[in-house]
Amino acid sequence: MKKQLTYLPSVFKEFLRTCAESARAHHARIYLVGGVVRDLLLGRDVYDLDILVEGDAIRLAVAIARRRGMPVTRHKAFGTASFIFRGHKIDFAAARSETYLTPGSLPRVRKAGVTQDLSRRDFTINAMAVSLHPAEYGRLIDPCGGQEDLRRHLVRVLHSESFFDDPTRILRAIRFEQRFQFRMEAGTLFQLKRAVGSGALDTVHPHRIRDELILIMREKFPFRCLRRAGKLTGFGFLEPGVRCTPAAGRLLNRIQRLQSFFLRSFGARTEFRLWSVYFTAFLESLSLPQVEFLLEELGMDKRTRSDVRAARSLRARRRRLKAPVLSDDELYEFLHQFPLEAVAYVYAYSTNGRLRRRIRRFIDTLSHIRLRIRGRDLQRLGVTPAHLYGKILRSVLRQKIKKGFRTKEEEERYALGVAERLSRQWASGGRKKGKNS
Ligand code: ATP
Repeated sequence: MKKQLTYLPSVFKEFLRTCAESARAHHARIYLVGGVVRDLLLGRDVYDLDILVEGDAIRLAVAIARRRGMPVTRHKAFGTASFIFRGHKIDFAAARSETYLTPGSLPRVRKAGVTQDLSRRDFTINAMAVSLHPAEYGRLIDPCGGQEDLRRHLVRVLHSESFFDDPTRILRAIRFEQRFQFRMEAGTLFQLKRAVGSGALDTVHPHRIRDELILIMREKFPFRCLRRAGKLTGFGFLEPGVRCTPAAGRLLNRIQRLQSFFLRSFGARTEFRLWSVYFTAFLESLSLPQVEFLLEELGMDKRTRSDVRAARSLRARRRRLKAPVLSDDELYEFLHQFPLEAVAYVYAYSTNGRLRRRIRRFIDTLSHIRLRIRGRDLQRLGVTPAHLYGKILRSVLRQKIKKGFRTKEEEERYALGVAERLSRQWASGGRKKGKNS
């Protein structure tokens, strides 16, 4: 695979050479492994690297990172370490074999060589490695026929008990099949249905299901995966009421069509998570109490929970956005209290022209308006007490949207007026109220 390795972004080439030198100094052999190899063979872009180490992966990762002054995250229990190199995640893992004692549980792990490590993996297309050792640089190690399956566009498990050993592979198989528009090899499909039929997914810890669901929602076309999963597995393993209904399907499709608009509009605000918009749409068939129960079960993080809740709440209150008259500052006031994910969700959800125009105005213009003044400007102007700054700045922003202040001086002048009014209120007994509001 020497040729394919030359397709790696140049930032990686030099880096991998130094990794190989360090490995030699540590009497270890290193390989690129898994998805990277698959993507190189498919000619797809590679963003992150998985490096398999025959030897001590943690020591090697620390040595490499130290030379560049990069902090390392170590997982001693798993023999893995990772660091970020110029924005790319680099994972180091010691080659290991795995034995599953009970289906769905975590496996027992032992040190092993590269071939054994490959034989514990999920699918043939993910069970390939490329040696980076100088003496055999670029040699493809493909004991399970991954390259041939890539050529034939097949997702194939390595053995008949694979889905029982780790039922999350059921969802992974669907994800890779749909991402690459491959087919499931006949025996694999049969084994998948057998595992689903015997309730294998019910044995998986909900947190692992959650992680796989998030990976699905992060796909470029989550709806394809969800539709296929709806057919092959149903979603009873999540909650009896979860269904990818036609309405949810239409909504997921609309989000998909809007995704480049959302990413263009919100992408620069790195906190925007398109996957959470998809996730909210996926839960369409559930009532709010059922949603809350499921999110709790899955151990979903606080932010996702509040995104889903906010999206439902905005959807329930969206009539406000259809009012015959709604000024810019009222529109801003109403929408800015919701996370961008909830706004994106309701934009995709609604087909009402006026509502969509207004959300669009918020997304394209109002949500970008920023103040020129900051808390330190209020301090410079001698405004007290400081705990009112947030309230003052919010009030200036609303007025800026309304009046279109152009200069910092206009903002300052208005801020001083608000400050005076508020501190008068605060001083004349409204202290408690002022503090709490
Ligand atoms: P992606 O492009 O989605 O990141 P990936 O193949 O890199 O795909 P990861 O989830 O990052 O997927 O996993 C890296 C590699 O680890 C896989 O290619 C596969 O070899 C192995 N792997 C991951 N999950 C499993 C699993 N559940 N069972 C066996 N092997 C797995």
